[in-house]
Amino acid sequence: MRLKDKVALVTGSAAGIGLATARKFAQEGAVVVLCDRDAQALESAAQSLHAPGVTVVAYTVDVTDRAQIDAMVADVKHRFGRIDVLVNNAGITKDAKLLRMTEQQFDDVIDVNLKAVFNFTQAVAAVMLEQESGAILNASSVVGLYGNYGQTNYAASKFGVIGFTKTWARELGPKGIRVNAVCPGFIETDILKSIPEKVLQGFRDHCWLRRMGKPEEVANVYAFLASDEASFINGTTLEVSGGLTI
Ligand code: NAD
Repeated sequence: MRLKDKVALVTGSAAGIGLATARKFAQEGAVVVLCDRDAQALESAAQSLHAPGVTVVAYTVDVTDRAQIDAMVADVKHRFGRIDVLVNNAGITKDAKLLRMTEQQFDDVIDVNLKAVFNFTQAVAAVMLEQESGAILNASSVVGLYGNYGQTNYAASKFGVIGFTKTWARELGPKGIRVNAVCPGFIETDILKSIPEKVLQGFRDHCWLRRMGKPEEVANVYAFLASDEASFINGTTLEVSGGLTI
């Protein structure tokens, strides 16, 4: 129960890594606050987490809408009095090679993967600064370390998230708030569903564990970084890729 009674907010938690993280946090004793733009998936995600002794609340929020973020954060503060953990997990891809990428594809990915991380963190950090404690975890990617073919927008957003992490670790660290980033390799979720099987097999072949990761394997890392076991870890970027990039 490493997160006992901690109030933990996970964005994009109706599916994939976000849902696995919310589940792990609930198992570790946290009060879990879900948020996603997909109301139907969110409802079933919340149902799947309900268990004796588990507190789960869910908000249908589009993370690109600052007014919705502010209303949600105010409501969570009102209900629980604090926010101990924020996982900026919501993310999308809209891939195209440089000359084919539309401005809309570029803007859409930057809005969800980068600008929303700024907006959510600004809203939640105000609460954490009042309580002088907290842990903020940002979803980057191995693509945010090395770039990737066809992912100009996604790579820029994930490199940007690492820049946020190192900046906020300096700004918020002295106030008792730790900020870290996680860089998953290729993890079996819906975000990979548009990628052809031949390419996915290439990912498996390049990974030194010869497979893709599972959402739970990233969730375990978020749980560790959110917990007091990681009390001296700040501003780091932790790769969870099975050794993809060595
Ligand atoms: P996913 O597509 O399975 O889940 C993403 C969730 O975010 C969905 O429930 C979706 O509805 C939600 N979401 C998307 N846009 C939103 C918005 N505007 N407002 C609110 N919710 C929104 O994706 P995943 O694979 O679980 O990825 C989670 C995070 O991990 C992302 O930031 C992704 O970039 C990162 N990541 C994933 C992988 C991978 O291989 N799966 C690798 C590296 C990094």
